[in-house]
This record gives sequence, C-alpha cells and structure tokens, in this order.
Amino acid sequence: MSLVLQNSMTGKKEAFSPLDAEQVTMYVCGPTVYNYIHIGNGRSAVVYDLLFRTLQQLYPKVVYARNFTDVDDKINAAAAAQGVDISVITERFISAYDEDMVALGNLVPTIVPKATEHISEIITTINTLIERGHAYAAEGHALFAVDSLADYGKLSKRNTDDMIAGARVDIANYKRNPMDFVLWKPSIDDQPGWPSPWGRGRPGWHIECTAMIHKHLGETIDIHGGGTDLLFPHHENELAQGVCCTDQPGAYARYWVHNAMLDIEGEKMSKSLGNFIVLRDLLAQQPHELVRVALLSAHYRSNMNWSEQLLHQSRSLLDRLYTIKRDSAELGSAPIADLMALPFMQMLLDDLNTPKAFAVLHELTNRFFKTDDLGERAQLKAEIFAITDFLNIAQLDADTWFQGQTAEGDISAEQVEALIAARQTAKKQRDFAGADAIRAQLADRGVLINDTREGTLWSRES
Ligand SMILES: [Zn+2]
Repeated sequence: MSLVLQNSMTGKKEAFSPLDAEQVTMYVCGPTVYNYIHIGNGRSAVVYDLLFRTLQQLYPKVVYARNFTDVDDKINAAAAAQGVDISVITERFISAYDEDMVALGNLVPTIVPKATEHISEIITTINTLIERGHAYAAEGHALFAVDSLADYGKLSKRNTDDMIAGARVDIANYKRNPMDFVLWKPSIDDQPGWPSPWGRGRPGWHIECTAMIHKHLGETIDIHGGGTDLLFPHHENELAQGVCCTDQPGAYARYWVHNAMLDIEGEKMSKSLGNFIVLRDLLAQQPHELVRVALLSAHYRSNMNWSEQLLHQSRSLLDRLYTIKRDSAELGSAPIADLMALPFMQMLLDDLNTPKAFAVLHELTNRFFKTDDLGERAQLKAEIFAITDFLNIAQLDADTWFQGQTAEGDISAEQVEALIAARQTAKKQRDFAGADAIRAQLADRGVLINDTREGTLWSRES
C-alpha cells in the first residue's frame, strides 16, 4: 500500500518513497499577501491539504511548510498607495488568508515561514551561489547566471526561446544573459530594504523559497508543490538555486507536484471578463464545506470548471451525507480498523484521484439508502463517516446543515421554530385549518416540515 504521485520532473506517475520514512517533508509555495485570494488559490490550498492528510495516514511524521511572500513589488505598491508600512498590508492579508484556510477546513501547516523573517538566510544563500560561480553582483543587484547550470530548464522542459518569452525578461545591460534572474535588487529610499553586501535592497521572489526550504526542511525535500502557473519561471529558478548551492546534483525536491488551474463556467477566470471570484465572497454565500467538496471534486491535475452545476452536485452529495447522519443516529457503528484499506482511500493513493474516490463515496450512500438490513447500514455508516472525517466534511450536526443554509430573504430559524410552535398549539386546540395554514405559510417560504414521533423536523428546500 503506497502512494503514487505524478512527478512533473519525470512526467510520470511514480511510487512515492520518502528520503526518510520517519520524517516526510513537503513544501508548497504560498500566497503573496497584498489582497484577498481568489477561488483558484483556494483550490491549490485544498489540494495540498488533502495530500498532507493522506501522507499523515501513511507516515508517522510529516513536516509541511507553506510560506508567505511578505515582501514583493505588488505589496510595496499597495503600501505606497495607502501610505502605510508594508507590514500593515501583509499582516492584514495574512490574517485574512488564515481565516480563509480555516473556513475551507484546511489543517495549519507545520511551518509557515515568512520571507522578511529570513533575510539573513537569503543573503547567505546568495553568497553561496556567488562563491560557487552561479551568481554575480552588478549595479546593486545579485543575479543568477543561468549559463552556469547546464540543464537549466529541465523541470519545465522549455527551450531557450520559450523561456525568454515565458519569463518576459527585462533586457537590462547589467545582465550577462537576458535570462539571468534577480536574486537581490536595490531599494530606493522609500522602498522597504535591508542592508546586504550588494547595498540596501530586497530579495527577488524565487530565492526566498530556496532559502526557507534549506533552513527548515533540508537540502533535499520529498515533495514540492504549487500550481502549474508556478512551473516556470518560479519553480525552475528555485530548483536552479537549490541544486547550485549544494554538492548534490539532482537534489532539492524529489517529487514535483503541480495542480491545474480553475475556469469559471468554461472560461478563464479574469478581472477583465468580470468572472473573478474572491474566495471570501464565495464563502460568505455558500456553506464552507460545500466549497471544500466542490474544490476537491475534480482531479487536481485537470483544469476545474467552477459552475452552478458543480455547486449543485456538491450540495447533493452533502445532503445525502447529512440525511444518512440524521437517519442513522440510533444505529450503532463498528469503528473502521484500517482506513487505508477502504476502496475510497485506495483511489486517493492513486495520485489523489478524487473523482474516482467521490464516486466510491456516492456508491456507499446509494447502498445505504437501498438496504433495510440494520447490520449492513451500521457498517456502511461507519465507512462513510470514517471517510468524511478524513476529508473534514459533513462535520456539522444534520439539523444545522438542513436548517442553516439561509440565503438573503430567507425566513430565520427562530421564525420557523416560532411558527412550528404556533402550529402545535393550533393542533392541540383542534384548529386544523389554522395548523394547515401555517404549514402552507412555511412551504411558501421554502421550509418543509415533517411530523415524527420525536416532534416536528424541518428543512429548507435546496
Ligand atoms: Zn516558491
């Protein structure tokens, strides 16, 4: 029983075998904190949370690091526009990001390093690259010399022309080769900066990840993750820096994992098309675990199409799970002895095949609804909720799920309870016309009621 992952370096699915099975290491490039994240960023975070949870089932210790890029030209521009220090901007959006991650149901990574807290490690790494002949100083900059690494481009598998186009390189006269990229750049007086051997300045983007990986996880990590949009130039450059400051060619990251992008109703998401979805706006409108289920439903290597239909399907799965939760309250359930042996988990072990895994979960719910055998129901219940606990979905009380999905203009839960109480009183007084009128009034507001021995249950129409 082992995990298989598609490795972007080899272009193949490979059996995952960590360098040290006692401590698996994973690094994922995190956000540049100058605004709220969009739903595509949310997808990436949920994908690596699932990978983290899967690794935790297989290995005793998994160290997962995800950084915050908290110095960057976009942050500087936002701070300058508002006349505040960059820390005002970065602290605000780090808090917002953390809140979004909690709402999505993600675990907190083991280590959450920030670029500005690693300036000395960054300078040391650049110095090492210069000493080894892989970088040079010029006009207040430090630059990586791509000609010094024979197989530069091997991760993204691009030829030089593609790389020049993809990197949108600045032709600058201080660069020896137009593809050389910035490790350190000078800051003018009102820009954030730190003293360095090359003058007061700030780090380039790529170098922070390499310096933080080496500090926290070691020279070679097991898994490096991120979106396909980071493959070039960011990951290619991280790799170049990583291998050139150690004596181990081929080191740095053993498995490169890349998640695909997200489209909206079949179109690329962009501000100009007016279809840009900020994650927290979505989370304000939809149940949080509905967003989580939807983001997990596509295979992480496939472009995801975010659509009304996807939300509808995800809601339908959660409705089924909560119906089972509500209807099986008195059923005993045997604990699942070996989570990893479940067919659901076997699908995840195959390169996180969530579409197949969710199909298995769906089939389990079908079987639950079809059978009257209490023993079989109890067993299915145990299997279903072992899976949902692992995924961190269907964690609410069933009534909270069915009653809590309020949209603007919906009748509140308190109003529903008050009307149900009034209906009970009417029934006791044998005012059946009055009781029926209240039922009709609730139905008009999208609330269905069901009289049971335990009392009147209600739910909102979905
Ligand atoms: Zn990175």
